[in-house]
Amino acid sequence: MISAPKPKPRASAVQAQGRCTCEAVRFEIDAPAVWAWHDHGDTSRRATGGAYATYVGSWRSRFRWLEGEEHLIRYEDPVARTTRSFCGRCGTPVLYERARSPKMVNIPRGLFTSRTGREPRYHMNLGERADWTWAGEPLGPLKGYPGVMIERARRRPRTLTPDDIL
Ligand SMILES: [Zn+2]
Repeated sequence: MISAPKPKPRASAVQAQGRCTCEAVRFEIDAPAVWAWHDHGDTSRRATGGAYATYVGSWRSRFRWLEGEEHLIRYEDPVARTTRSFCGRCGTPVLYERARSPKMVNIPRGLFTSRTGREPRYHMNLGERADWTWAGEPLGPLKGYPGVMIERARRRPRTLTPDDIL
C-alpha cells in the first residue's frame, strides 16, 4: 500500500499563499516572511522583464509546494551560483535561490494573493539600477488616452564631465 507523503508541519498559524499566472503551481509560506526586498540587479531584471524584481524571502523550512511542482523548469547559473525556477506552462518566475543563502528561498512578491507579514523596504544591487526605473516622479493624465499617465518631469542622473572635476 502506498501512502501519500506527509506534508511538512506548519510552523505558524498564518500562511501566505501564492500561485503562478496559469495557477498550475501553488505554494505557501508560514507568515510572517523573513523579509522582502527590491532587487535592482541585472540578472533579476532579465529574469522577470521588469525594471526590478520584488522578492519575499522565506526560510526554506517554512516554504511548501501545494500543487504543480512537476511543472517547474529550473535554470542554474553556475557563475552567480543561483537557481531560478519558472512555471513550464505559463513562464511565471516562481523561485529564486542563492547558494550564499541556502536556507532561504525568494519568491516574487506579485505571486502572493495575500499579505506576507513583511513590507518590501530593502533595496539590493542599486548600482545596477536601470536608469529608466520609475522612481515616483509626478504623473499626469495623457490627453486623449484615458487611463494612460505620463511623467511630467523626468529626473535623470547627471553624468559628470571633466569640467565638474577640474
Ligand atoms: Zn503557470
